[in-house]
Amino acid sequence: MNITFVVAMLDEAQPFIDNFGVREVPDFFSPLPCKLYRARLDAETELHVVLNGQQHGSDLVGCEPACVATQAAIQRLNPDLVINSGTCGGFRSKGADIARVYLGNGVMFHDRRVPGDDEWGTQALGNYDVWNGTGALAERLNLPVGKVTTGSSLDMQPCDLQIINENGGELKDMEGAAVAFVCSLYHVPILLVKSVTDLCDSSAETFEEFRRNLARASEELCRVNVRIIEELRVSGLGLRDNEV
Ligand code: SAH
Repeated sequence: MNITFVVAMLDEAQPFIDNFGVREVPDFFSPLPCKLYRARLDAETELHVVLNGQQHGSDLVGCEPACVATQAAIQRLNPDLVINSGTCGGFRSKGADIARVYLGNGVMFHDRRVPGDDEWGTQALGNYDVWNGTGALAERLNLPVGKVTTGSSLDMQPCDLQIINENGGELKDMEGAAVAFVCSLYHVPILLVKSVTDLCDSSAETFEEFRRNLARASEELCRVNVRIIEELRVSGLGLRDNEV
């Protein structure tokens, strides 16, 4: 089984890079800035962590870097499962709390407003399939599930909130739907694991709240990812059926 994490920020990935002992393979994706860390966990399980990499002196966040990294990862690594692991904004009104880790039971874009007929609107929102083992995994590990909605900004405009609410969005991030879009093109299953750094309906300034909670949310993300990998190694949850 080949499991490949796609992660935006090193800060989000560092705890599980350390935990799993994955090693960097320098220049694997050159000339792309994406970074690969890999480890063989056992005879059957190969683990990859792919980071978007950096530009302009900081980690690349957002949809375009996520698409590039996911496409490169799928083409070069041929994963059985892509896991988009990262942080997100939650809503206290929908039960979220800081450092709570969710599995995504749906994923869409919330900032692509394309007027026209149903087809254009449907394409803009995305609503891609998530891995069909997500529900069973959430039950086994007793994890909450929620719908991920993705946009290109950390802040939230009133029209974003309207689309999020109209479509049952619960976890606001900047990469999930982009990773899921590429996975849908290649028919690779995707699991979304999201840890809350900030509450979109609190009075706190989002960036301040994000920075303040990033380390703690990333530690919790690591703890859940360790449990996920363990469960996948033990039960496979149908993924091994894909193996030839
Ligand atoms: N410049 C910031 C970058 C943070 S962008 C820095 O230097 O730390 C926020 C990242 O966390 C994105 O990758 C996004 O997926 C996630 N994220 C966390 N909270 C979010 C929110 N409220 N809205 C959108 N994305 C959020």
